[in-house]
Amino acid sequence: MEFNLEKLVRPHLASLKSYQTLRDFYMREKMTFLDANENPYGEFNRYPTGNPLELKNRLAGINGVKAANLFLGNGSDELIDLIQRLFCEPGKDAILVMSPSFVMYEIYAKMNNLKVEKLDLNSDFQLEKNTFLEKNAQRAAKILFLCSPNNPTGNAIENLEFYIQNFNGIVVVDEAYIEFSAQDSAVKLLAKYPNLIVLKTLSKAYGMAGLRIGIGIASEEIADFFNRFKPPYNINSESQKLALEQLKKSVQIEEKISKILAEKVRLKNGLNQISEITIVYTSEANFFLIEFKDAEKAYQVLLENKILTSLRHPALKNCLRISVGTAEENSKLLNVLAQI
Ligand code: PMP
Repeated sequence: MEFNLEKLVRPHLASLKSYQTLRDFYMREKMTFLDANENPYGEFNRYPTGNPLELKNRLAGINGVKAANLFLGNGSDELIDLIQRLFCEPGKDAILVMSPSFVMYEIYAKMNNLKVEKLDLNSDFQLEKNTFLEKNAQRAAKILFLCSPNNPTGNAIENLEFYIQNFNGIVVVDEAYIEFSAQDSAVKLLAKYPNLIVLKTLSKAYGMAGLRIGIGIASEEIADFFNRFKPPYNINSESQKLALEQLKKSVQIEEKISKILAEKVRLKNGLNQISEITIVYTSEANFFLIEFKDAEKAYQVLLENKILTSLRHPALKNCLRISVGTAEENSKLLNVLAQI
């Protein structure tokens, strides 16, 4: 498939000059900075760099790519929005999403006045090649959002490469939960598919949801394009600093993931003993999609016991999505559920 980035981006962006700050260029020199109307006093008075290279180098190393392949967002939420805004013309273009999947693809599409085409997942929560090829034949959508492991179903999507290979626009593979799974990252496919963007986040396995750092990984050409048009100071200076400090503690991060995975096994065994539960779906993430005899009732009882869960998707009848917590939290959850 021939790939031409300029043909895919919104036409007016090709000639638009992005906001430029020369600050990064002069950062290493002893300069007097009177360029950005900052307050000269204070601890947080300076704008952050828009290109946090040390952080990017660290993230590049973790993901086996170069820093030039990365673009960062204020959470991957911001990147989902930005990807739509840079490629899709409001009132005209459409995105293609799996259903059920992460709701923000659709919410942003509605905010951006884009049409949303859906690929219904089958009873195993997998995509069907034929349904996909039919939609694809209509060539309506500009971006395909794949999510694997998928939120809220928890499973990994099979044959991802088939969908990437056969889509004529930009394919986004959202790997927010991949560190919990045995699945291979689609980052390995970047060399083969210039239309691919992989999204990762520090919010889940890395335990830094509060810092809001999302990671886009793509060809250098796509990454450069996003780096030019992203909001210039979208990762604040404290988040840059703290994320770097946390990432240096890689052993602790690994330990936390192992702990969550061990608790996940214990939680699943416990959930399988609860008579109100009809199915605990297989999960490759740090949560379970659970079908109850009466999910609304279970949700309310949990709420009365000060446990907040997620009453899921209109498309998923009688299901709750429940995160794996600490040993103590999971035991409390199991105790309350046992009493329903
Ligand atoms: N993608 C998926 C699949 C998610 O579940 C989430 C968070 N729930 C996000 C992206 C957004 O993550 P963040 O903005 O925290 O990086």
